Order: sequence, then C-alpha cells, then structure tokens
Amino acid sequence: MRIDSLEIHRVAMPLVYPFRTATGDDHTIESVLVRMASGDCFGWGETAAGRLPTYSGEWAAAVFLTVRDVIAPLLLGEDIASGEDLQQRLSHIKGNQFAKAVLDSAWWDLYARTRDEPLWQALGGSGPTVDVGADFGIMETIQSLLDTIGTAVESGFKRIKLKYRPGWELDMVAAVRAAYPDTVFHVDCNSAYRLDDLPMLKRLDEYDLAMIEQPLAHDDLLDHAELQRHIATPICLDESITSVDKTRKAIAIGATKWVNIKYGRVGGVTNARAIHDLCADSGVPCWIGGMLESAVGASHCLALATLPNVKYPSDIFPSSRFYREDLAAPEISLSGPSQVTAQPGPGIGVHPRPEELSRLTLEHALLRA
Ligand code: MG
Repeated sequence: MRIDSLEIHRVAMPLVYPFRTATGDDHTIESVLVRMASGDCFGWGETAAGRLPTYSGEWAAAVFLTVRDVIAPLLLGEDIASGEDLQQRLSHIKGNQFAKAVLDSAWWDLYARTRDEPLWQALGGSGPTVDVGADFGIMETIQSLLDTIGTAVESGFKRIKLKYRPGWELDMVAAVRAAYPDTVFHVDCNSAYRLDDLPMLKRLDEYDLAMIEQPLAHDDLLDHAELQRHIATPICLDESITSVDKTRKAIAIGATKWVNIKYGRVGGVTNARAIHDLCADSGVPCWIGGMLESAVGASHCLALATLPNVKYPSDIFPSSRFYREDLAAPEISLSGPSQVTAQPGPGIGVHPRPEELSRLTLEHALLRA
C-alpha cells in the first residue's frame, strides 16, 4: 500500500473525573491520532502517550513533533507491504515507541480496511468478543472504593484491578479482600517501589492476588527477577515491556510471570502481536492494557485482546467510564457482563467524529506524498 497522506492530530480529551495513579492525577488525556490514506482508502491510528513524560519517557506533544518531522517523512510515498516492513523502515530510530505506534496502528487499520475484514481477523484473533476487567484508581476513602467495587462485582466483572501507591497500600488491599473474599483482584503499582520495599510487597502474598503489576522501576528487569524470587504473588511487567527483545530477556531471567501488552508502549500493533507470540511460545500468558485512548485506540487494543494467549481480562473500558462523549464513534460499550465486542469492521470499524476531533485538537498537520 502506497502511503499518500498522513493527517496528524494532537488532542486533549477531558476526563469525567481525575484518574489517580502512582504517577499523579490526570484531568485530561492527551493523545495523538493519525489518518493514513492510500488511494481511496484510509485507516486510523492512535497513541496516548500522556500529557507529561510520567508513564514513559514520551509525551503527546513530543510524539506529535516526532511523527510530523521524523517518522512521517520516512513513510510518505512509500509502498509498505506489512507491519514488519513498516517497523524495519523505522528501526534506526531509537526509542520513541509511542510515536512509532500511532503510524503502525494506522497502517493496520488501513490494511484491514483494504482487505474488507475486521482488524481482529486480520491479526489472527479468535472472535470479536473479549473479556475485560474493572480498574479503580486511588479514591478519597476506602469506603468509597468498597462501594464502587461492589457495583462492579454486582455487574459481573470477572476481575478488579486496584491502583496502589504509598498511602494507598496494605490497609486498602486488606479491606477489599475482607469485603470481597472470592473476587479476582490484582494491584498495579505503576513503578512506585524499590527492592527496599520487599517486606511490604511480601505481605501482599497474604491476600491471594492474581498478580502485582510493575512494582519496581519503569525500565527495570533485574530487580523484578530478584523480587519474584522472594514473593509468591506473580509479577506482571507493564512499563518495563517496551520491545520484543526486552520481553525475551524478562522471561529468560524470571522477572515476569504475566505480560501486560500495550501496543503504544511497544511501538505498535506489529510488535504487540510479536510479543504475544513470543509469550505464547514461552508459556507466559498475556493480557492487553490501555492508556485511556479514545474508541480508536481502544479498538486496536480490543483487536489484540482477541489473540489466543490473552488469558486474563484486559483493560478495555466502556467510553462512558472516562469520557462524557468519546472522541470517536461508535463508542466502546459492554456487550455482556465483563465483555466487549469489536465492531464488524472493516478495520477497527470506528472513526473520530469530525466535530469532536476539531473541538479537542491542540495541534494539527496534513502531510502529502
Ligand atoms: Mg499498569
């Protein structure tokens, strides 16, 4: 497919309420969307790197510049045969995984649309419906968290994820486990701790958690392997998984028993699928994470979640959980208890709504071959 034009938007999407994690409180999600056109056909990609470089070293304003000035010129006018071909053309660019991901995901949507099939099918997924979980940030009180979890449990969510940071730790987990003894839970530390915190992290073994997500530094492997030798709860790496090669090393040294795959963080859908395949070959199960993308990015996550080695409910949320109105349509909604279903396609089957896109856009560029 020859890439004829690329339209790049950096947007700020206001949240219904602040999203609180170990890295801070966000009131808006900044994201970059790309419309990639080839002839009469086009596809949409998205990457939500964040307003500041607090999740990874990348952030949306820098992603916009990198895409516009560095990566887009390498692809415009070129005939891109596959996701691997696209990645190869960008392989001399170090890092910048979120910037690569927006173009890679746009390529995949374009490719599936030209084949007139849904993206999940083009990727080799097993069906349009996937399991999803509920995810709760830090709240004002433990009681308000317990009430909210109660609503999620009653609605049939198959697992609950709890953000975990200093000041919102063992007392919170103990209260949740006491109130909901049979529910599947895990905690996400967003790299808030160090090996010195081992005694506290070891106490989490008392609460029968499904996993601990990214307890230690965002780029670490070695200390996670050391921690895993001392605790029974499985570690799931998230932030540390930035490439296929880093995943291979993490598995080889015993740093991770689960892998949370975010296509933005690993440079795109192509690499996300390759990591999925590597994990499957290594006997390590996966699930799919998200960055509070619009329905465009969430639909790419959904397509990846249909792959066979995804063994835990993914972080794909109904649009209404975070946004009054989704930037894109159709919005993401539950198709059953703890489930979402991909649009019939072609591609992701989702488009930005033009008036919403222009209202939320901070920066825009249109590049032609
Ligand atoms: Mg995480």
